Amino acid sequence: MDQLHEKLRDIYEEVVRRNNGETEFHQAVFEVLASLGPVVDKHPEYVDSEVIRRLCEPERQIIFRVPWVDDRGTVQINRGFRVEFNSALGPFKGGLRFHPSVNLGIVKFLGFEQIFKNSLTGMPIGGGKGGADFDPKGRSDNEVMRFCQSFMTELYRHLGEHTDVPAGDIGVGSREIGYMFGQYKRITNRWEAGVLTGKGITWGGSQVRTEATGYGTVFFVNEILKHAKDTFEGKRAVVSGSGNVAIYAIEKIHELGGTVVACSDSSGYVVDEKGIDLDLLKEVKEIRRARIVEYAEKRGGPAYFTDDGSVWNVPCEIALPCATQNELNGDEARALIRNGVRIVAEGANMPCSPTAIKAFNEAGVVFAPGKAVNAGGVATSALEMQQNASRDSWTFAETEARLEQIMRRIHNRCLETAEEYGQPGSYVAGANIAGFIRVADAMLALGLV
Ligand code: NDP
Repeated sequence: MDQLHEKLRDIYEEVVRRNNGETEFHQAVFEVLASLGPVVDKHPEYVDSEVIRRLCEPERQIIFRVPWVDDRGTVQINRGFRVEFNSALGPFKGGLRFHPSVNLGIVKFLGFEQIFKNSLTGMPIGGGKGGADFDPKGRSDNEVMRFCQSFMTELYRHLGEHTDVPAGDIGVGSREIGYMFGQYKRITNRWEAGVLTGKGITWGGSQVRTEATGYGTVFFVNEILKHAKDTFEGKRAVVSGSGNVAIYAIEKIHELGGTVVACSDSSGYVVDEKGIDLDLLKEVKEIRRARIVEYAEKRGGPAYFTDDGSVWNVPCEIALPCATQNELNGDEARALIRNGVRIVAEGANMPCSPTAIKAFNEAGVVFAPGKAVNAGGVATSALEMQQNASRDSWTFAETEARLEQIMRRIHNRCLETAEEYGQPGSYVAGANIAGFIRVADAMLALGLV
């Protein structure tokens, strides 16, 4: 509580009281409020107008039953969520997560983060998030399709290109977006491209959307390196996860001359000193949807799989957590520091625990938070919306160049804002403050809504 400005403490206490047990949501709110002290001193109007208190309360929260029938003919019931958090800057925008751990608190933490991330991109998008406690792992394509159709049968009434535009997240890739888009089209009788992003290239999607979060993460780290007059050339990196964000982060690191020596999934991790073989990783994870142990079995040689300990025990200079929230704790941070890590950048949302972040700060490790680092995904979704609105499609090179420019701008905005508010070099302060000010000013301009 000492880390919070005295004018913000009761707001945080109220969030904890009114959102009982939603610990990830509390953590996300605390992390933002802890950066806002200097802003409150300079601009008391944000407190006086209750903009901060309003920001902590979603505009709308939708919870619904998702009934479907599995391949054995058994009825299954899941719970669906959409939290429409803030639309001051544009339609609600943020992914859908299908994972057994999904609950209201997780969706609220993700939706809250999304407000500031989307604001930081400088694009006209508000913040939201959704999902279900459905586990696509081990389900047939037909089961996934039936689930997606049932999910969209409720959700469609809340969506629209000017209202709420979901995308993918954990467990939701182009297959799931396709099934949901198909059901939306069927129910509404409208081929409305702007209602979902992450669509396939041949039916309204954007080049680079698949790669965007991973590539954007690495572009951000490249800016950090450039700032220190350094490059990726010859650097050792570890990337956690082996899903959408991780795979394309690995691809871009290799393109820029670095070597990723380890990656993981929820069953363990692989170490491959020669550098992760990306074609093999894609075959195992994207095509076969198999466990990561298969990578080591097929790769042979000195590459190995283990479920003993943590991927963060593997020495590296650059660490990119790209799997899930709170996947890197204080002990793991200290192991990374002992092994000489220099930069930690969050490809995932809130993957580093508060104690891990504290350890990085104390050790002088450069730490960059997810809401800045992984904003390339949603920024490219906004580019997809732009192409859909103008019935246009850009080339890969053109879209990637825009993504790189957006990441450079976000990086610079973080550093400039941190400097302006007396915390030079703090990407956390810069991201939280810059993201907050843009959305708070819009809320003030729109009146009490
Ligand atoms: P995917 O479903 O494609 O991949 C997730 C990866 O993380 C898998 O390797 C998965 O392993 C692993 N993982 C998931 N949960 C756990 C867990 N509890 N413990 C250990 N490993 C786990 O998701 P994405 O790559 O899309 O998302 C990864 C992160 O990036 C999330 O935090 C997401 O919110 C964030 N993000 C994603 C964006 C996007 O555009 N996709 C945009 C911005 C942020 P397994 O297969 O074993 O479950």
